[in-house]
This record gives sequence, structure tokens and C-alpha cells, in this order.
Amino acid sequence: MKENGLYVLPELAYDYKALEPHISEQQLRLHHDKHHQAYVNGANALLEKIKTARDSNAELDMKATARELSFNISGHLLHTLFWENLSSPAKTKPEPAGAIKEMLSKEFGSFERFKGEFTKAAVTVEGSGWAVLTYCNMINRPIIMQVEKHNLYVAPSFPILLVLDVWEHAYYVDYKNERAKFVEAFWNIVNWDGVNDRIKKNSECVLEMKTVR
Ligand code: MN
Repeated sequence: MKENGLYVLPELAYDYKALEPHISEQQLRLHHDKHHQAYVNGANALLEKIKTARDSNAELDMKATARELSFNISGHLLHTLFWENLSSPAKTKPEPAGAIKEMLSKEFGSFERFKGEFTKAAVTVEGSGWAVLTYCNMINRPIIMQVEKHNLYVAPSFPILLVLDVWEHAYYVDYKNERAKFVEAFWNIVNWDGVNDRIKKNSECVLEMKTVR
């Protein structure tokens, strides 16, 4: 059996300046090194707290612990996916190609229609949260979700294809209070090849499940 692990902040696959001018170095450093790190630390501290309580057979406030754990783990997971969703504007294709293009045209009619719906979902998240493109394997359709905070209104086990962080901490250095401008800029740095990789991984999982059955 593997040893019990802890969460680790993933390194970015690109330089801190790579997403400029859409996301500045200062904004990205703050977001990755401070905000994302805080969720990693938060989740690990809770796991340690739980372990300490178990070791001494002490009482645990399970309601508060489960809530905080869900918030911090989800924050870590979504940020990890978000960094993978981005790429330097020089390397970014203006529109998706391949599997994601086909999937979006089939469900939304066109990429433009999808972009409009996803943008609206992102701009209208109440308070802090995310716009998320997921895929439902039960009905073989992509579905846009709005996630509040990091963990509210999530459908468990839906694989995530594309996420956009619309917490203020994601854009306030560059765009102040203008979330819509940040969302517009996001479309210039979407790593569509990465989205296609996730679709491929998801279909491999589906195939494996079918083989097991
Ligand atoms: Mn964030």
C-alpha cells in the first residue's frame, strides 16, 4: 500500500510572463504562489488536524472539518485544472479544433454559441466562483456549470474539460472590478490542445469501465 500523502502546489508549465498581456506576471504570481498555495496549505493542515485528533482519539467537529476540507481540496483541484487550461497567447489557437470542436458544434450548434453561454455563466457567478465545462458520461453531453466558491453546486464525478476562475483574486490586479474584461481576455489564452487531451483521457476511462463490465 502507498504511504499517506499530502497535497503539493503544482509548478506552472509556463513562465509567469507567458500569459501576458491577458494575465500579468504580478497577477499570476499572486494567484498561483499565494492564493493557490493557501488552499494546498489549508487542505494539508486539516488532514494533519484530523490525524492528530485520531491519534489521541479526540473529538472532531465533523461538520466544520468536512466543509473546510471540501472547500480547500476543491480549490486546489480547480486551480490545478485551470493552470493546465491556459497557454501563452502566441501558442493559442483562436478556435478549438478536433474532438472539442466537434463536441461543441454538436451540443451548442457552434463555437460562438458555446462561447456566449460560457461567458455569461462566468460573468454572472454570484460572488466568488467558477465557470466550468463538464462532460456527462451518462448522456454523452457537455454541460456548463457555475460553481460558487470552489465547491457549491458541483455535480460529483463529472469530468472537467475547461474551467475559468472568476474569483476577484484571479483578475483584480489587471482588470480591477471588471470581470467581463477578464473573461473576454481568457479566450485568447485557452489551451485547446489540453482540453482535447482531457477528452481523450475521459474516453479512455469510459472504455476501461466498459471492458471491466
Ligand atoms: Mn483562484
